[in-house]
Amino acid sequence: MGDGFGSLIVHCTARYLGFTNDEVAIFGPSENPVGTYQQFAYNLGQTVLRSESESHFLAPDWPTFAQLDAWARRSPAALWRSIRRKYNPGVAEILTEAAIVKERTNWEDVRVPLRVGWVQREMHPMPHFVLYDEQANFIGRAKHVMLAPGHGPLSFPPVLAKARQDPELADRIVQAYEPKQYAPGGRYIVIGAGIASVNEWANILDIGGSVLALTRNPEPETQDLNVPRCLFESIGIDAYVSMPFEQRVQFLGEVLRGTRPNRREWLATIEGGREEGRFDALVGDIDEIESGRAGLRVHVSSRHGEDPGWLDVTGITAGTGFNKSVLTIPLLRRLIEHYHVPVVEGRLKLQTNCGVPALDRPDSRLCCMGLIANNVIPHGDTIAGLKYIGRRFVADCARAEKLRKRPFPSRLALQFSMGRDVAHALRSVSTTRQLA
Ligand SMILES: Cc1cc2nc3c(=O)[nH]c(=O)nc-3n(C[C@H](O)[C@H](O)[C@H](O)COP(=O)(O)OP(=O)(O)OC[C@H]3O[C@@H](n4cnc5c(N)ncnc54)[C@H](O)[C@@H]3O)c2cc1C
Repeated sequence: MGDGFGSLIVHCTARYLGFTNDEVAIFGPSENPVGTYQQFAYNLGQTVLRSESESHFLAPDWPTFAQLDAWARRSPAALWRSIRRKYNPGVAEILTEAAIVKERTNWEDVRVPLRVGWVQREMHPMPHFVLYDEQANFIGRAKHVMLAPGHGPLSFPPVLAKARQDPELADRIVQAYEPKQYAPGGRYIVIGAGIASVNEWANILDIGGSVLALTRNPEPETQDLNVPRCLFESIGIDAYVSMPFEQRVQFLGEVLRGTRPNRREWLATIEGGREEGRFDALVGDIDEIESGRAGLRVHVSSRHGEDPGWLDVTGITAGTGFNKSVLTIPLLRRLIEHYHVPVVEGRLKLQTNCGVPALDRPDSRLCCMGLIANNVIPHGDTIAGLKYIGRRFVADCARAEKLRKRPFPSRLALQFSMGRDVAHALRSVSTTRQLA
């Protein structure tokens, strides 16, 4: 359920292991598994991924992106960068790979262009699920279901959310992930210091505007990846999963920080902006917004020293991400209410195999991936995390269905030919400039 990155990974892994397209269905409205991500990436102006070489869509671990890049461009440069953790695949490159994986696995053939509105557990004649669309029409039955609905809605601090209801102010307050346009000479407040906010600093400076970078704390905590690198490894994940749920949620609160890989290109742009007097940093919270001569008049208070006070700005961009509560996703909310699935602080209390308690069984799995699973797999909402969860789910399904696995030589040949096709396609994609 869900037609994003997660669907591509589960489908590709299922095909690799030996399931056929007759045995898989993907439910979702998008013709393209990268559609949802691509729109956000475009709005943000993202050119390279936050993630590194290992985050790709092929079923096994290899070839990684740096290996594919070296293969395609006959240059070891990407490998050398990757060894030093300075390689981030370009957005164009990963979209190219996704297109090849989609085509080679015939992703479109298994997609049912409907949104799932309800999933019901049935036990007869064997444990399975009945699926209904959002108008309560029957749309199918499935023995195993992966819930991959992606993110909840974009999140705004309450003062901004309220101001957006005022038609006079609404157009000037946007989320970093929304479409937007900056005016040369304009003056913008950008809230946050994660990768989305830093991207916007650079976008505004590049177009000739000025940035007031607003953070709540004087030294916002950010890191290269969305959790420390050790939590991307199975040893780290095992240690994390071995903690009780409450401790995991607390731990996640401590380690989950804004992502801000050190990128020398951005640093140079920001340094240039600072020297020209077009970049300044402020500490505080916006507590009032009204219309003003530059567009908006904004009051900022600070808990760390003097209040910055009233400011005239052209607009505000919030790098505040998505609402992370599962209760904001209608299908999950219905499941939670009907089946009494436990939820703590907006997070599903999933089993350690990402199964939904009371509904998941080894012979008929109901599993979650993506952001909704990050209390089990801390980097659940990254390509690497989706892969980790997707592979385990498919392996469980194969075990339950006593699947006759694709023989090793056939898997090897499939993987090699898909890698070759990606490398071939990458030759016609211009190399994306690395920022690290
Ligand atoms: C701007 C941006 C940059 C990112 N950069 C990186 C990066 O560099 N590296 C990295 O590893 N990750 C990155 N991520 C995270 C990455 O996009 C997510 O990990 C990934 O898209 C999540 O995949 P998903 O399948 O869970 O959700 P999505 O890709 O969001 O797909 C979910 C899909 O499910 C559909 N859907 C929802 N509800 C239903 C329903 N009821 N029935 C049917 N379909 C439904 C939605 O329409 C959507 O198309 C980034 C994310 C964003 C937004």
